Amino acid sequence: MTARLIDGVALSSGLRLQTGERAARLSARGHPPGLAVLLVGDDPASAVYVRNKVKACQDSGLHSVFERHDATLPEAALLDRIAALNADPAIHGILVQMPLPRQIDPGRVVAAIDPRKDVDGYSLLSGGELMAGLPGMRPCTPAGCMKLIESTGVGLRGTHAVVIGRSATVGKPMALLLLQADATVTVCHSRTTDLAAHTRRADVVVAAVGRRGTLTADMVKPGAVVIDVGINRDERGKLCGDVDFAAVREIAGWITPVPGGVGPMTITMLLANTVEAAEAAEAAERSARVHQ
Ligand code: NAP
Repeated sequence: MTARLIDGVALSSGLRLQTGERAARLSARGHPPGLAVLLVGDDPASAVYVRNKVKACQDSGLHSVFERHDATLPEAALLDRIAALNADPAIHGILVQMPLPRQIDPGRVVAAIDPRKDVDGYSLLSGGELMAGLPGMRPCTPAGCMKLIESTGVGLRGTHAVVIGRSATVGKPMALLLLQADATVTVCHSRTTDLAAHTRRADVVVAAVGRRGTLTADMVKPGAVVIDVGINRDERGKLCGDVDFAAVREIAGWITPVPGGVGPMTITMLLANTVEAAEAAEAAERSARVHQ
């Protein structure tokens, strides 16, 4: 069996069109959605991610502000910038690109962002809302993975899903979203004994490790849906995921490529979260006017 490709670029372009239309309607009502992207330091990979996010904003008609700060920026100065953006009514989403230099505590940075502008979905409030099954900002990468799975038409109810990786930004929220969709979820990590025993029983595997060759063909159940979140380089410096794509493709039913799978969907969900935050801000402003 050769797996069908889950094309993140094609899915993204359709969703970005809808997001662009919502952004245009907001702009026409005098509320253009705005995203501020903050980069601290000169990590080349982060610079590429940030450039892609800012460009995607512009392409979808969102207002974007990009700030690049020196790697020596003190934490207090970054927190001051975040406070100013929290108070700026033209900004509906604030994204601070991770990782941050050592002198800055990422937890304090995330906590400083107004939860209504937490378009990355990393705040404790967003995490709590996800845990409780309440509406709220969902972390972009897991939310994008859910859209990719949905696009296959394979229903999740009653399936066995295995998430490899338990980070707070990808693995854990991914597991909660799958659980919410009525999958039975197993979360694996670096201390899992016999990873293959779990993945071989999985109808859906999400690999979010950051190590190429984590999921090989002998670890996959025939027909499974395989979502590859990992971003790695092979020995020739070419971008690749955590999944042995060529071999797993012969076993799985559906598979995402790297690049062109999860990556574009992460940015798409960031745009969608920003537009949603702008719509919520407009509704809050309208309701405040009514109650004046
Ligand atoms: P992370 O914080 O480093 O977490 C990696 C997870 O993988 C950890 O939970 C770790 O377990 C687990 N792990 C490590 N080695 C393992 C092994 N041999 N077997 C099973 N589990 C293992 O990374 P992350 O932020 O979640 O990101 C994961 C990957 O996704 C990275 O390559 C990252 O670049 C990529 N990513 C891509 C996108 C995108 O848009 N495409 C977005 C975000 C992240 P422990 O908890 O036990 O250490």
